[in-house]
Amino acid sequence: MFLRLICLFLLSSSVLASSHSFEDFLNNIHQLATEQGVSKATIDRAFYQLTPNLDILESDRSQAEFSQNFWNYLGKRVSQYRLDNGYDTLKQNRSLLNKTYQQYGVPAHVLVSFLGLESNYGNHTGSYSLVRSLATLAYDPRRSDFFTSELIALLKLIDDGKVPLEATGSWAGAMGAVQFMPSNVIAYGVDADNDGKIDLWNNQADILASAANFLERLGWNRGEKWGREVTISEDFDYDFVGLKTKKQLDEWQTQGVRSANGSDLPKSSMAASLILPMGYKGPAFLVYQNFRSILGWNHSTLYALAVGHLADRLSGGGSLLATPIDEPVLKRDDVMAIQQTLSLLGYDAGEADGIAGPKTRAAAKDFQKDIGMVADGYVGYELFKRLQ
Ligand code: CA
Repeated sequence: MFLRLICLFLLSSSVLASSHSFEDFLNNIHQLATEQGVSKATIDRAFYQLTPNLDILESDRSQAEFSQNFWNYLGKRVSQYRLDNGYDTLKQNRSLLNKTYQQYGVPAHVLVSFLGLESNYGNHTGSYSLVRSLATLAYDPRRSDFFTSELIALLKLIDDGKVPLEATGSWAGAMGAVQFMPSNVIAYGVDADNDGKIDLWNNQADILASAANFLERLGWNRGEKWGREVTISEDFDYDFVGLKTKKQLDEWQTQGVRSANGSDLPKSSMAASLILPMGYKGPAFLVYQNFRSILGWNHSTLYALAVGHLADRLSGGGSLLATPIDEPVLKRDDVMAIQQTLSLLGYDAGEADGIAGPKTRAAAKDFQKDIGMVADGYVGYELFKRLQ
């Protein structure tokens, strides 16, 4: 508690050290929003007795201590509880889901999977005042431009009567069952039942149409899967791993890739990339265009695989066939140590931020090649031990 008080004090002093007061900041937003056509009455109502919420800045600054690995991430997100709720959600919205599929081409189980991961099917949409959250984050100098435009987008939605003034969401300003930021609501939100509101909290028609519209605009292809679990041969060329390489299914078959149960891949010229979220010992997936659309929604490979797998399970598919690997989950500090050591050894791992992005994986791969490890670029426990 004492530590928390100190934290809050430090946060508030850093906020107060910002070049202008919160009141000046609100006046500035008032002017910007007015210039963009938001009415004075809406802004006055939204900003009435508004104060920054320091808890939000604390959440924004604290990063998860542990880096996530595939099995650990998937296990938390595709639980029996989430499957059961997903089957219920499918059943309860059958006709609406069919109608949404006819219009946008995104199947029911995929839409329901997104809702499951974003908000536990609309049950956890967040209880922070959206105006207050976004005003706080816009006032904080760190990502002020991004959150200022989101705050103004929210004011527009309120001014147009599409979203209520008292709407709540995540501390980061995401709203409803689909956890859209305000700019996403403006760009992709659909008022499917034509009542003038985009109700992403309680109106299933608006929720499903908005999610499907977003995915369609992100390039979702009707009638195609997101990807499939596969196996790779022992002499597989790991230079082909990653989203940068695309080959037709026929070519992957020639390279020794097979379905997860060992059977041949379907004969098809469909383009696919091969990904190994946990290195050569872990599961392997061929992913198609629709996987890239999921990444457009949330740019995390683990998230996209979880959406795809939960969708498959909701449409009657079974568990993954790969054997789970029980390896220690790296802490962010461990990943930072990997990045620093790789850079010291002359492999450019990028900024040591504790997140294994493309640059870190490329550096890991070069290092693995040079010392004779399997060069899969996976930043995991084996690499960590080796670099220690
Ligand atoms: Ca509506």
